[in-house]
Amino acid sequence: MNPTKPLHCENCGDHTEKFFSDRKNWCRKCVMEDTFTKFRAKQQNRKPKTKVAVTAEENWNGFCKGGCGKFNSGEYVCGGCRAAKAEKSLALKPGEMELYRGHLGDPSDKIVQQVVVINAADGDIEDVEWAWFNKIPLGTATKGKR
Ligand SMILES: [Zn+2]
Ligand SMILES: [Zn+2]
Repeated sequence: MNPTKPLHCENCGDHTEKFFSDRKNWCRKCVMEDTFTKFRAKQQNRKPKTKVAVTAEENWNGFCKGGCGKFNSGEYVCGGCRAAKAEKSLALKPGEMELYRGHLGDPSDKIVQQVVVINAADGDIEDVEWAWFNKIPLGTATKGKR
């Protein structure tokens, strides 16, 4: 064996001190690239599994979690149940008056904000000291300066 005989990588043709693969006469660079490519391919094959877990609701196929018994696809609670629940939570008690109702933040978040006022004269409030008669009782949180 002639030790001065130059070695050439069978993949890229570059001169190499020695071969870095047991099975192929490849240089270090080619072996590293090959290993990296195979590693990346493995990682990409694993990706879909993670995605299913993240977008679980979009892949939901089952009965409505709102209790209507309907079969839902792509959402846990159907639109009907969501609307019914929202109406219930926004229902006014006697003496309450709705000032404002609207979406809070992104409409797709489905967060509804409701501002309700109570006519203090109609309520069960007794022995109240008024900061502003019949409008602002003392000791309640008021917006602004205190
Ligand atoms: Zn090479
Ligand atoms: Zn439902």
